[in-house]
Amino acid sequence: MTTTASSVWGECLSFIEDNIKPQAYKTWFEPIKPIKLSGEALTIQVPSKFFYEWLEEHYIKLLRVALVKQLGEDAKLIYDVRMENNYSSSKPHTVKIPSSNRNPLNPQGVTVPLDFNKRELRNPFIIPGIQKVKIESQLNPNYNFDSFIEGDSNRLARSAGMAVANKPGGTSFNPLLIYGGVGLGKTHLAHAIGVQIKDKYPDKTVLYISSEKFTQQFIDSVKGNTRNDFIHFYQMVDVLLIDDVQFLSGKTGTQDVFFHIFNHLHQNGKQVILTSDKAPVDMQDIEQRLLSRFKWGLSAELQVPDYETRVSILQNKLYRDGVEMPEEIIEYIAKHIKSNVRELEGVLISMIAQASFNRKEFTLSLTKQIVDKFVKNTKREVSIDYIQKIVSKYFELDVATLQSKTRKRHIVQARQLAMYFAKRMTKASLASIGSQIGKRDHATVLHACKTVDNLTETDKQFRKYVDDITQKLTF
Ligand code: ADP
Ligand code: MG
Repeated sequence: MTTTASSVWGECLSFIEDNIKPQAYKTWFEPIKPIKLSGEALTIQVPSKFFYEWLEEHYIKLLRVALVKQLGEDAKLIYDVRMENNYSSSKPHTVKIPSSNRNPLNPQGVTVPLDFNKRELRNPFIIPGIQKVKIESQLNPNYNFDSFIEGDSNRLARSAGMAVANKPGGTSFNPLLIYGGVGLGKTHLAHAIGVQIKDKYPDKTVLYISSEKFTQQFIDSVKGNTRNDFIHFYQMVDVLLIDDVQFLSGKTGTQDVFFHIFNHLHQNGKQVILTSDKAPVDMQDIEQRLLSRFKWGLSAELQVPDYETRVSILQNKLYRDGVEMPEEIIEYIAKHIKSNVRELEGVLISMIAQASFNRKEFTLSLTKQIVDKFVKNTKREVSIDYIQKIVSKYFELDVATLQSKTRKRHIVQARQLAMYFAKRMTKASLASIGSQIGKRDHATVLHACKTVDNLTETDKQFRKYVDDITQKLTF
């Protein structure tokens, strides 16, 4: 059999299809067209710049595995970003990719190296010599203040962020803690502060890191006996941005090391910026001494944006990407997607993808279809906290009782149900479910899931519990 672009891509697709959700596959992979194969380089055509960015952001690892399987270690992927822009003009054109982090353009499109490690910290344990060591900031230049739309929902956090960016370490906002729900711009704002500091003070060492990665590095350092190097590395930075500190919950070792790093930075007038999905008062399983440090500076909330802000965010995004969309469609999206900016953007991206490849106009009915899908998906996304609340309420318990060590049968059952629903309705691991539901281990959660499965089949009353709670959690 001869290998062609289509045959290689076909193989890649069947691998990819097995590894992601059908909806994601449909949206992000079906529209791609294989164009050319030369040596180890496969060229694929994608309908828009967003599309390409989205693939790079979310699926690059998967793409790599798929391609390497087909073409070997030297596999290369070339994106041809050609948008057949049938709603504003009739001739096809090539969209240029911003050059910030990309290779030179060629007239047909753009070649992007498969640079999988670009967001990784290459070596977090560089020992400083006489010269100042250069640490890569890990910042995304697109997440800046210009692209962060101001509204009532974020005014305080945004201006505090600006103040900190203009005078890192020199305001009373140290640490600055930005908190708020999923997709409301915490990560964006944290990057914006970092980007602005780098802009204003190129010599300052700025470092952005997620709490998860920080934790992983710490664990590795303990294993490798390099704990001091780890601490030393973090104590060298001028501005430390730590994203999603709620993930430090229950991780006492990591909290302890962070406490020391924090104190060192703070005493030396260095700036610390934290984000979290909860206000400090609501954080669980974070040591008191660390929480009290978090409260030293300013905690600023990112709230759900109001309608006007949602419209501005959409308009701004469209403007930046050079896409025109009728006013009534923008309004429809802003009216229906209310609680999450990431979803607002998701709807736009899907619309642009659909419209450009299926040669559809941006119609209200297309919009409705896409918005519907998003709204449905959102409904299914529940948190473990929420599940515990609903289950406790259903059995007329409080959450503390649900989590307690008691062996009383009805409480054990309630707890097992909470674990079962957490497994079914969230992406959390067994271990993480256990730690959030009364600090149990993963084996307990697994046992709970099996018990619930069995009881559902054998016990009518129990089956009703499961049905009732399912109802409550999904509607
Ligand atoms: P979080 O970290 O709170 O979950 P993100 O910072 O990842 O949320 O934001 C989700 C998406 O929404 C990002 O693409 C971000 O650029 C965008 N976004 C959030 N808030 C705003 C805003 N005020 N203006 C423009 N874009 C925003
Ligand atoms: Mg985030």
